[in-house]
Amino acid sequence: MVFRKPFPVESTSVETARCARMIRVQQRHRVSGQAIRVASVFACRFTAGTTLYTAHAEGDAADFMLAGGHTPQELQRVADQVVRDGTKRTVRNRFRRTEVVFVSVGDQQWVRGQGWSHYDRVAHTSHVHAGCSFSTRTKPRCAGGDGKLPTRYVNGG
Ligand SMILES: [Zn+2]
Repeated sequence: MVFRKPFPVESTSVETARCARMIRVQQRHRVSGQAIRVASVFACRFTAGTTLYTAHAEGDAADFMLAGGHTPQELQRVADQVVRDGTKRTVRNRFRRTEVVFVSVGDQQWVRGQGWSHYDRVAHTSHVHAGCSFSTRTKPRCAGGDGKLPTRYVNGG
């Protein structure tokens, strides 16, 4: 068996267990695992083009950046893999679906229970966004919030 070093994960000062697991499952994939250059987790900021806090602010989302020149097709392939691991029981996810609920790539979004549709915010052209929760109006800890996870979410990355 050839040992492949998995892609690195950065910005993990705040990271949920379910997000860490979603990333670990991607690291096990031969194709998408090698296509990904780095996964980036924590960022205390709004979702681009909105005043909603991104799931990254709770460490509950990952941005999968690809190695080399990424084509829309390569980005889509990784996005499809992330969705598959969240909806099917596979060897790579050890037959336990990941808890991803929102994926965005290009001008498309996938929402658990709804499938793929048009994403009308700033397009993700350089990476695949994968969240275990949605953008929210609730202030995260990093912005002075009380640290309770939001009960109301607004769809979007
Ligand atoms: Zn993101």
